[in-house]
Amino acid sequence: MACPVCGQPGEPDGADFCPAHARALESVRQAYEAWANAFGSIAQADFLNRVARLKGTGRNAKGIVEFLQQHPERWK
Ligand SMILES: [Zn+2]
Repeated sequence: MACPVCGQPGEPDGADFCPAHARALESVRQAYEAWANAFGSIAQADFLNRVARLKGTGRNAKGIVEFLQQHPERWK
């Protein structure tokens, strides 16, 4: 299955994303939980908007953030 963000093949066991974007997705999820713990709950869409604007957000993370903005159902 090709990664929906970059089109690279996923890992062999039917992964939805390539390894780079699977890691990026995990990082975004962890950042969301950390944010929610530190500052209280935040809507996913608001969180993604904030991350997308951060200067320190890497290319893979930006890719996954844009993907999640377009496909919020894939967050879980
Ligand atoms: Zn990818």
